[in-house]
Amino acid sequence: MSLEIQQKGIVVAGGFTYKCEETGESFKHPHLSVLEDIAKKHLRANNLPIPAGWHEQFEENVCRNSPNAVCRDTAAPSIVDKALSLSKALAKWAVEGFPVVPQEIYNQREAICLQCPHHTEKKGVYTGCKICGCRKQKIALSTSKCPDNPPRWFNLK
Ligand code: SF4
Repeated sequence: MSLEIQQKGIVVAGGFTYKCEETGESFKHPHLSVLEDIAKKHLRANNLPIPAGWHEQFEENVCRNSPNAVCRDTAAPSIVDKALSLSKALAKWAVEGFPVVPQEIYNQREAICLQCPHHTEKKGVYTGCKICGCRKQKIALSTSKCPDNPPRWFNLK
């Protein structure tokens, strides 16, 4: 997962929070760029390194520690990734003659997905998978397999 803040350059009510993992101290400011300067000063004052790529770590840290931050998972599949994943799943399904799973297997897969941290839902109803970006209909296909590593459920064909 790679979290990126969507409210850059604007004042956020309630402010952003950065928590230094090494010292345990927390800092808060309504401007993200000011908070980043404060965080860097704190690291330097404590002789802690600011490695290349630290900015990404900073944004992830702020996302995890700021209830008011709106963040996007940049590692989530893009529209193109989702389309590719769906077309691969459908092509495999077509080659096998469009088989669907029995209701019992469908229910088992849905229950597994609902327990999984990678699922998406609306009002408690499973709607899809964050890893492959596919919608819930994918669990009906006999040729589908959970994309997690290791998979949480398997294809029948
Ligand atoms: S398909 Fe696999 S990874 Fe995706 S939500 Fe279901 S169990 Fe989780």
